Amino acid sequence: MPESEPSIFTRIIAREIPADIVFENETLIAFRDINPQAAVHLLVVPKTGAYPSVVELAAAEPQLLAEIVAVARDLATEHSNGEFRLVFNTGATAGQTVLHAHAHVLSGALPEGTLA
Ligand code: ADP
Repeated sequence: MPESEPSIFTRIIAREIPADIVFENETLIAFRDINPQAAVHLLVVPKTGAYPSVVELAAAEPQLLAEIVAVARDLATEHSNGEFRLVFNTGATAGQTVLHAHAHVLSGALPEGTLA
């Protein structure tokens, strides 16, 4: 995908495509994954599309990474029992399909034998 083309998440942030949004503040948005892999499967996404993966995000704005973890905890508490798996797929061969940094928050009944 050329850098100039907005990611699907940027289009969700801009309200160009619908999503089931469960949280939003100045820097982050969270919505339900369209293809849930657990009873609760949310995506926590920085509003800036500047970071293709968590690696660039963590290097440039470590406090934003800490904010993602805090929001994941709050959402897991609100939508489940407060316990959760936090997954950052990083790179195509590791399963990353959307090159806009995002965290998977998985909670409740998880599929057996898989990581995400
Ligand atoms: P993977 O597809 O292997 O999980 P990523 O880690 O890049 O790769 O995650 C992208 C996630 O975005 C997927 O879990 C996918 O189901 C989700 N997704 C794609 N399009 C939408 C959408 N329009 N609304 C909500 N979630 C979406």
